[in-house]
Amino acid sequence: MSPNGTGAAAPDAVSRVLCFAAHPDDLDFGAAGTVATWTAAGVEVQYCLMTDGDAGGFDPDHRDSIVEMRRREQQDAAALVGVDTVHFLGHRDGYLEPSHEVVEQVVALIREVRPDVVLAMHPERDWERLQRSHPDHLACGEAVTRAVYPAVENPYSYPHLAEGGLEAFKLSHLWLYAGPRSRENHWVDITGQFAAKVSALRQHLSQHPDVGRMEDYVRTQLETKGREGGLEPGRLAEAFHVVEVNGPDTIAGF
Ligand SMILES: [Zn+2]
Repeated sequence: MSPNGTGAAAPDAVSRVLCFAAHPDDLDFGAAGTVATWTAAGVEVQYCLMTDGDAGGFDPDHRDSIVEMRRREQQDAAALVGVDTVHFLGHRDGYLEPSHEVVEQVVALIREVRPDVVLAMHPERDWERLQRSHPDHLACGEAVTRAVYPAVENPYSYPHLAEGGLEAFKLSHLWLYAGPRSRENHWVDITGQFAAKVSALRQHLSQHPDVGRMEDYVRTQLETKGREGGLEPGRLAEAFHVVEVNGPDTIAGF
């Protein structure tokens, strides 16, 4: 579904995707079904987790081991949707900012991986459901969006990166998740990947005191997105705000 001419980001036009999240489990809630459609089509997908998620969880017995636990949970969840490479930036949960330090880390990783699509959280707050807009989520979106333009494509941004061999390049598409509904312009039918998405979500055991309730909520949300995206009744969708960063007609400057 691409009402806004975003078909160039379809799986057959994409060979590599780099996905960013603030916390372990964000990608599984927002995009794991879509990731599964990509990997099933032979697309290489890598994850980057910006914080350790060390403020998450509900069991006091997990406090000492929460960072290690959540990294393992995220790696297991990623593997279930065909993702083998998970990068961890190791920032502290609740303290993420779109600082130059963070933006530079993002630029370096994007230039290293050289994806066709970068997928990240939305930098804008969703007033309909504030839980989607944790400050770290907004910071993830802002840092990645700042990195994508102009720094990734400008060799003179953080010049030591290019001098060290991480060459600037023009990114094709930025996909944003967990943003305001009014921004969503692309819906991916993940009905066939729902089981894989739920399996991935179940790996985050440290986060779900009531797995059944979480699964019911996720299904309802995906049905709503399917309806909003104009899919057949009962079909499940993940929704995104797809931005064409560089297309055939894009020129430098505005
Ligand atoms: Zn989160």
